[in-house]
Amino acid sequence: MPKEKSRRDFIKKGIASTAVAMVAASDANAFSLKIPGRDKDDPKYIGQKGKHFVMVIDLRKCIGCQACTAACMVENQVPKGQHRTYVPEMEIGEFPDVRKGFLPQLCNHCDEPSCVSVCPTGATFKREDGIVVVDNTVCWGCGYCVEACPYDKRFINTETKVVDKCNFCAQRVDKGLLPACVETCVGGARIFGDLNDKNSEVSKLFNTYSHDVLKPEQGNKPQVFYIGLDDRLVEVLDATPVLDDWVRSKLKILEKEWVIYPEKGV
Ligand code: SF4
Ligand code: SF4
Ligand code: SF4
Repeated sequence: MPKEKSRRDFIKKGIASTAVAMVAASDANAFSLKIPGRDKDDPKYIGQKGKHFVMVIDLRKCIGCQACTAACMVENQVPKGQHRTYVPEMEIGEFPDVRKGFLPQLCNHCDEPSCVSVCPTGATFKREDGIVVVDNTVCWGCGYCVEACPYDKRFINTETKVVDKCNFCAQRVDKGLLPACVETCVGGARIFGDLNDKNSEVSKLFNTYSHDVLKPEQGNKPQVFYIGLDDRLVEVLDATPVLDDWVRSKLKILEKEWVIYPEKGV
């Protein structure tokens, strides 16, 4: 079955199961399905007011060194074999006109994130400053968001057993630091900042160079912008195996049974 079809089928089934679970919950009053992302005044959901965080990746400068991959794993304690970001190396062109290309990838912090709309618990949400995060104390690991992301940028963390993905290093950004991958990027290819600030580096790059996003046809409006994206890299992208598939096959999340815990004090 084509992957996109199987993904859609999975989401449909998931939403149906969730609806059943919610009805059962209200009948039995056995557990809470509070949606934390709805409390508008909570600073957790606002982030940095007035800002619009994005990343620009200048592919002309990426040398494929994987310093970003390593820095991200250390900063975010990502288990061995799993990745919030990675830089596949691809061969583009044909002999004798052939060269290596690198395509750093991470969560795109989409403006219309399909991962958020399918989440039955509100564990994943988009802050007002644009960062899409997962509250791993609320996530129950159902994996709907993993299937709903057209970029395959979510995975079930083998240690926490809930969903993980790039959070633009919000724990650093909220202290005025740069994301770990940006700070360590040897070639200066990853640039992070506030697109609402017209003097920021991202704004200047955005306004100076033409830029593209991955899979624009999905309609998610990604907020990671690439400068120098070669069409041939995109063609190879669709045929590249996704690292997260390995994790899925290991955890067999498609067959995972739901475990619903009663709310404390009920
Ligand atoms: S890239 Fe995937 S996980 Fe990230 S915001 Fe977009 S849909 Fe969600
Ligand atoms: S795995 Fe977690 S974040 Fe993803 S949809 Fe399920 S509850 Fe939401
Ligand atoms: S912004 Fe942080 S979490 Fe995201 S890829 Fe870079 S280092 Fe990893």
